[in-house]
Amino acid sequence: MNEPLSAADRLRQHFSHRVINQTRQVIDLWRQLPERQWQNDQLNDLVLACDKLVNFAQRFDAVRHEKLGRQLLAVLSTVPAGGTPDSPQLARISEIIITLSRTALRHTDENGAEKLIPSKKAVYLALSDTSHALAIAEQMQYFGLYPELQRTPHDLQESLALRHPAAAVIDLGFGDGGIAIAEALQASRENVLPLIFTYQGDAPPLSVRLETMRAGGVGLYEQSDVQGIISHLERLLDITPDPASKILIVDDSRAQSAQTAAVLNRAGKVTQTCNDPLQVLQVMKDFMPDLVLMDMYMPGCTGVELARVIRQQKEYINLPIIYLSGEEDRERQLAAMAEGGDDFLTKPVSPAHLLTTVRTRVKRARQLQDLIARDSLTGLLNHTHVLGALNQALQRQQGTPVTFVMIDIDHFKQVNDQFGHPVGDAVIRNLALFLRQNLRKTDPIGRYGGEEFAVVLVDADADQATRIMDNIRNNFARLNHDGSALRVTFSCGIAQCHGHSLSELVSATDQALYRAKRNGRNQVHTA
Ligand code: GH3
Ligand code: MG
Ligand code: MG
Repeated sequence: MNEPLSAADRLRQHFSHRVINQTRQVIDLWRQLPERQWQNDQLNDLVLACDKLVNFAQRFDAVRHEKLGRQLLAVLSTVPAGGTPDSPQLARISEIIITLSRTALRHTDENGAEKLIPSKKAVYLALSDTSHALAIAEQMQYFGLYPELQRTPHDLQESLALRHPAAAVIDLGFGDGGIAIAEALQASRENVLPLIFTYQGDAPPLSVRLETMRAGGVGLYEQSDVQGIISHLERLLDITPDPASKILIVDDSRAQSAQTAAVLNRAGKVTQTCNDPLQVLQVMKDFMPDLVLMDMYMPGCTGVELARVIRQQKEYINLPIIYLSGEEDRERQLAAMAEGGDDFLTKPVSPAHLLTTVRTRVKRARQLQDLIARDSLTGLLNHTHVLGALNQALQRQQGTPVTFVMIDIDHFKQVNDQFGHPVGDAVIRNLALFLRQNLRKTDPIGRYGGEEFAVVLVDADADQATRIMDNIRNNFARLNHDGSALRVTFSCGIAQCHGHSLSELVSATDQALYRAKRNGRNQVHTA
């Protein structure tokens, strides 16, 4: 299914792989640093890896990667030898790393058309039924995965010796038995290869599920559940790290707060200190913390009073507040917790105890925030939050273009009427997955309404947005849904912000979408 490549294309592919692998290495090294307490040779490794990234990126014309690599080198050069980065440095590094992990390789070909080259996501497909395997492989390509068919166990073995895929899909009925083959495969490797198992017919019993899990299986799907398999692979292969957590330390003692900040910084957390409790609301607005560490006794007001005031604002209802105080009286601690605190740590607290508490609380709060902000069917941002993202993009614009995109599935009522509501749901999920795979991960995507979607393209003007969306429209129209020949199209409206207000921009985009519909659907219209 691959067309032969020209020598120039092959060279380009070679460098694109190098850029991607090097990007991964940089991200991995960064991840390990806090655990290894920022040992100096580790930091040097990161610098070297960045240097290489810049180098490869230059040769591939991967402008964004090159720029980000250079920015990273610049920040790293300001970290003193043998030292730990401070909060501004940590925040900056984390921001660059995240952008880097989300930056897909875009390459402009001779005709000026922008080709999106997704990060290397090779997946081996070892299925017993070849026609089924071909169908899955075709769909996978549309989702930015690189499937490779393995027809026999011998093929699989040979391919594995040649290169490492990111994951493999193996059918229980493959060769003489998928599980035995998987066990042999894992035994011959240094690292466990994530496997997704498939079955045909009835769902296997728990005993078989256990066996697949022990053989490195992370999922088990019926062979025709292409959507399930692909969205699992998507989650599995997503390398985007979580943003560094931001901890606000409210304490009138400078010495105490500096000590706490040092502990948190060494674990890679970004901190902000507020020594004047009366400034706390302004500091929170600017810093947007994930968690507040609150002293109990301060001049001007107590920590409990502050927590109460903070909780009165609805945007801070889920914000974890942890008291960190010398107060040892259990009664008073409990009374403080009743006033909006989530936990109480008594000073002196061991670094490990502090870090575990902070980590768990931040993780929980983020999970909750995700539940609130995301649509349950698709995992995309919901209506309110995609508009929030647009608003934020407009406020941070500073000369870079911001473009809003609205998408509406064509004749969707007929899909529901002819195939049933569950199939309609599957189509909606497919479009969501498709948008996620084909757009940069920095671009917020939302489910705007029933079968309507919205995207905020940051740093793309109307022309670029039109090209990107038209390309997506074209590919989406070729997708088969419901494992059958069902095909669905969408219409798309685009408007770039030229000093518009939020509501003006939304309404311009809406009108463009209306035009696309009126002009015959399955097209992109730009305001
Ligand atoms: P047009 O090309 O003009 O957009 O036609 P349409 O049929 O897509 O538009 P219309 O707005 O008339 O119908 C949208 C349908 O989408 C109606 C509604 O039942 C269906 N729908 C909305 N949300 C969901 C959902 O979550 N799941 C399913 N299966 N259907 C949904
Ligand atoms: Mg509609
Ligand atoms: Mg519609």
